[in-house]
Amino acid sequence: MRYLLKEEIPGIWFIDLGVDDEKEYTGSYIISSGNEIALIDVGPASTFHKVLSALDEIGLPYDNVKYIFATHVHLDHTGAVGNLIKSFPNAHVVAHSRALNHLIDPEDALWRASKQVLGFVADVFGKPEAVAKERILGFDRKEIFTVGKDSFEMIPTPGHASHHVCIFREQQRIVFSGDAAGIYIPSLDVQLPISTPPFKLNLALKSIETMISLKPNKIAFTHFGVASNGVLRLKRYYNQLIEWYESINEIMHKKMKDQEEMLEFISKRDKDLLTFLQKSKGHKGLTRGLKSNLEGFIQLIADENENVQILDKYQN
Ligand SMILES: [Zn+2]
Repeated sequence: MRYLLKEEIPGIWFIDLGVDDEKEYTGSYIISSGNEIALIDVGPASTFHKVLSALDEIGLPYDNVKYIFATHVHLDHTGAVGNLIKSFPNAHVVAHSRALNHLIDPEDALWRASKQVLGFVADVFGKPEAVAKERILGFDRKEIFTVGKDSFEMIPTPGHASHHVCIFREQQRIVFSGDAAGIYIPSLDVQLPISTPPFKLNLALKSIETMISLKPNKIAFTHFGVASNGVLRLKRYYNQLIEWYESINEIMHKKMKDQEEMLEFISKRDKDLLTFLQKSKGHKGLTRGLKSNLEGFIQLIADENENVQILDKYQN
């Protein structure tokens, strides 16, 4: 059972969950303040026991877990909540109210949609277990939760998912970004988009502006780890999404079909992608993810064009 644990900032640990034996793929955060504990994005169902082992290793009692914060309820972020909540008698799952049904009944829409979008990767993440309704706290707009002496602000950041939130810890000006700030790969020092369908670019850009307005020093990425220069990274991500949008618009115009050719074309604008394509041999999962990112933009642009055609028809 391989996992790595690191105290990134005093009282904040990051677990490399080693999902599918991959490096720099998916992680999870443990926060301890006073006698209370919060977990952020506990990872997929298949690695829930690594979160318990990490708590054991640090020496934090399960009874002190007060909250499991969910940036959003995709399988790689919160698939483990149903398993974990059974070990935490005093804990509640905190998630945007739009996500509640997925937590209460993951079998229905969430698992089916995940199988459809992710294919065999959904099985790698594992099927989530249901969470009882009374163990969930939902919210619709900005809301603050306290853990020991610290406060955590839940801030809606839709785009990647309609129920996505980022979590801001003002004391240290750190944003736990879930999937709203894309992917950061420490060993290559590059960022990559997360634009799996159905991706809403305008909402995603607004969400990045919201995070920039918090003036964060650090971004705590679920994929992957804590990075400094928070505002610069967010600005880079904003520009990167625009680079992809412009490139894929051209790609569709050119009727390019081959995925490798498409990525190479985008990498003329996106230097981070260029570095990734040249040096990413050990990153199978992230390479697979690029395909979904392409699909998200292609679908988005196809829908826009359809809408334009409808508009044109209307105006004629
Ligand atoms: Zn996600």
